Amino acid sequence: MAYPTSVKESPSAGSQLPGIRGVLFDLDGVLYVGSGLVQGAVEAVARVRAAGIPRRFITNTSTLSRNSLLARLYGLGFDVDPEELLTAPQATATYLRTHFAGVPCHLLLEENVRRDFPDVNQAELEAAECIVVGDIGNSWSCELLDRIFNRLVQGARLICIHKNRFWQTCAGLRMDIGGYITALEYCTATQALVMGKPSPHFFGTALEELGLPPETVAIVGDDIDMDIGGGQAAGLRGVLVRTGKFRSAYTATSEIAPDRIIDSISDLPDLLGLTG
Ligand SMILES: [Mg+2]
Repeated sequence: MAYPTSVKESPSAGSQLPGIRGVLFDLDGVLYVGSGLVQGAVEAVARVRAAGIPRRFITNTSTLSRNSLLARLYGLGFDVDPEELLTAPQATATYLRTHFAGVPCHLLLEENVRRDFPDVNQAELEAAECIVVGDIGNSWSCELLDRIFNRLVQGARLICIHKNRFWQTCAGLRMDIGGYITALEYCTATQALVMGKPSPHFFGTALEELGLPPETVAIVGDDIDMDIGGGQAAGLRGVLVRTGKFRSAYTATSEIAPDRIIDSISDLPDLLGLTG
């Protein structure tokens, strides 16, 4: 583990974030880490809900389908309306329906997540004109990368659910699919279409649903690149939590400056000035 876990003091720690009328919650690393609940997360979400603050739960997770994620949130005790959940696989399925209808697509996705893609004309990798990449666990290999590479140089489009650099598991940090996507981009001299955070389109969909201007909405996340950087690029305020994949050394060397850094989601109600 290269990154020390000591906490970097934010210059704005303890101060409130005024003018926030809506909240986007990242899931993994903010509300829970692996199978463990972040202490105070259920209460913090309940207080935001009770205050009548419009909210969306937005995630790049592509290991679980939308319904499985909802079941997980309910199992952990969160009070979430189904329409409040916005997932990167869901955004990808919508994009494919709009821009790649009928096009042969190869879905490099876990079985559970394929349920979110009922309309896709699924094809073998070697026959695909579009390749959708999500989390496939330990299935990555040099052979698979070469097969994708060869299809891409023949003109297939590369679509990724997200391009995260790393993620936090119960056993520590793990390299995420962004590394594989970047390798494929480099070797093919092409750019993948990124569907989840930090895509401005993904944040735009959430803002549209909330009906609020971006500067009045806070994204609360543990990923300084995808959550905070992506959110700020879309005009939102970025609140970084010191849970999940947060690492002080990585944060200290980042060019991204969060609007606020809080110890955990349990500090959010105070940050927003919620009473009761
Ligand atoms: Mg996260």
